[in-house]
Amino acid sequence: MTPEEFRRHGRQVVDWIADYLAGIESHPVMSQVKPGEIRRALPSAPPERGEPFESVLSDLERLLLPGITHWQHPGFFAYFPSNASGPAILGDLLSSGLGVQGMLWVTSPACTELETVVVDWLAELLGLPGHFRTDAAGGGVIQDSASSACLVALLAALHRAGDGRVTEEGITRRYALYVSSQTHSSLERAARIAGLGAAGVRLVDVDPRTLAMDPAHLRTLLDRDRADGIVPAMVCATVGTTSTTAVDPVPEIGAVCRERGVWLHVDAAYAGVATVCPELRWLNDGVAEYADSYATNPHKWLLTNFDCGVLWTADRGPLLAALSSLPEYLRNAATSAGSVIDYRDWQVPLGRRFRALKLWSVIRWYGAEGLRAHIRQGVGLAQELAGWIAADPGFEPHEPHPLGLVCFRPRWPGLDAREADRATMRLLELLNASGSMYLTHTRIGDRAVLRMAIGGAATERRHVEQAWERIRTEHAALSRTLPG
Ligand code: PLP
Repeated sequence: MTPEEFRRHGRQVVDWIADYLAGIESHPVMSQVKPGEIRRALPSAPPERGEPFESVLSDLERLLLPGITHWQHPGFFAYFPSNASGPAILGDLLSSGLGVQGMLWVTSPACTELETVVVDWLAELLGLPGHFRTDAAGGGVIQDSASSACLVALLAALHRAGDGRVTEEGITRRYALYVSSQTHSSLERAARIAGLGAAGVRLVDVDPRTLAMDPAHLRTLLDRDRADGIVPAMVCATVGTTSTTAVDPVPEIGAVCRERGVWLHVDAAYAGVATVCPELRWLNDGVAEYADSYATNPHKWLLTNFDCGVLWTADRGPLLAALSSLPEYLRNAATSAGSVIDYRDWQVPLGRRFRALKLWSVIRWYGAEGLRAHIRQGVGLAQELAGWIAADPGFEPHEPHPLGLVCFRPRWPGLDAREADRATMRLLELLNASGSMYLTHTRIGDRAVLRMAIGGAATERRHVEQAWERIRTEHAALSRTLPG
């Protein structure tokens, strides 16, 4: 493709995306295709001869669009939001256009140095401590995901816990990772990848009401393990759990970790970016005092297209010691002089995309003010929705719900718990099949509940109102068909 051809097709693509976003409400939120349907519609063999780019675009529209779940649809309330935005799309496009692979400072100095500036900016915007800044002992780095961030944190923690032995000898002693039943599954996977195995993961109890980790039980588990010759490697506290946005008590957990010299990782994948709002800074309680590492995902709720997760560490020493290596083919004067950052030492892969460009575009386009407005809109709508739910005798909201997620249980008078859960899941299926919204579920106290996560870039009050109206209507209709 020549630059002129690229210009022509590039315009078509940008127009296509603009039309798609402008008309997104005309699509069913959740793809309604059956497994295998898209694959069957596609040619099984690659073309021998090149095809015009228009064919790619028309097949995207004709064959693939039915198999797309529209994450940017204003009725998307599933999982957590995965915000896209104009400046992020354009920043990503520029990154693709430059085609930079920023594994080392020397492979594109601006890729590294912009990233340093942007993660330091973000630390400031979120009110994170000064020692997370790159000009202090710590520093931030953009990862593809919070899952990678927790794996990298665990490798650094293992390095520190074993006084460097894990990095040299591998896992020759028993190490443990401490999480709760509410911790994201990526932590258990990190333990498996790092060689601790599922047996190296300890489940700390949670408060049955708030679902927050119990620091006293953590202390008991740590002391028991130490007495048994097991080395506690890392504790993961979550600020905003995936299931219900529960907030673990980081100050108390941190104090336990500090007393026992254990690495504290704070996983704020979803909720962390909300601290751009001063009124939500309480989510950072204990982070400055105790966190050895901290992660949040601009790719969830901060208007930055997937993928963009940021990991900060209070001391980059163990991280670099755990992950640095310098084969001959990567040697260069800047690295040898030790005068530059090579972010490949801060992550699992060698190669890395120029992700800082999209985060930079987003922060510059919206400014702190615009980012705050976006978070406040999500939180405000969620609080309104929670009020409607609480006022309706047919539903019961789960408390607390401090952010953009509201979990709630439909009531099914006359049904026992199992039948009621089945009815809740049936309601969920009906709502998602309607095409007007997409919700997911979780279990709280072994009961099925619906999750409605608000925070899409296009979601306005009317969308939440319409969704709530439909939930009530479908619930009433389904109730009429049930015995009891
Ligand atoms: N941690 C928490 C609390 C999450 O909610 C999630 C995803 O929802 C993750 C980690 C994993 O995020 P990622 O998809 O960036 O790996």
